[in-house]
Amino acid sequence: MTPFKQLYVFVDESKFSEAEEELAKAGLRVLPTGSTTKNLQACNFCKGHEEAGLSFALRLDEAISGMEVPVPIKIGYAGCALGTSEPLTKDISVVKMRDVYDLYVGGDVKGIKAKLAKLFMSGIREERVIPIILEIIDYYRTHAKGKEKFTKYIDRINLKEVING
Ligand code: SF4
Repeated sequence: MTPFKQLYVFVDESKFSEAEEELAKAGLRVLPTGSTTKNLQACNFCKGHEEAGLSFALRLDEAISGMEVPVPIKIGYAGCALGTSEPLTKDISVVKMRDVYDLYVGGDVKGIKAKLAKLFMSGIREERVIPIILEIIDYYRTHAKGKEKFTKYIDRINLKEVING
């Protein structure tokens, strides 16, 4: 198990398709390795699947994980403001606030220059959350300078000016 909560499975290359199929049958997704957006790091949905937004989190994971980016990005999700999944430690995070969502960007707790994500948008309707995150990622992919980390890129640009929301 990796820090991104991914499971690495080593199989012979000739058995890749078979293994992928078996993993899918067990409800697991196979994501590309390398510089990609990682699978959603979500909370435990202790408030129940409906109140904590489990079905939305699953759709969010499906939409955002495995995209090629200059440097790997962690995306987090918390089903309420208690944020026990530590959403502010991720590059991008979604926090469910009753019927709407808040979006945080720029968290990075690795190294000695650790910092917490800051509130970027609040009160977002559910149907707007995924398009906004995809827009943020797309802009990062096209405007990062080489292998620029997401947190550095966030500091350099004014995200509010480029994302319509
Ligand atoms: S973030 Fe909220 S809903 Fe999710 S596990 Fe923590 S307390 Fe429960």
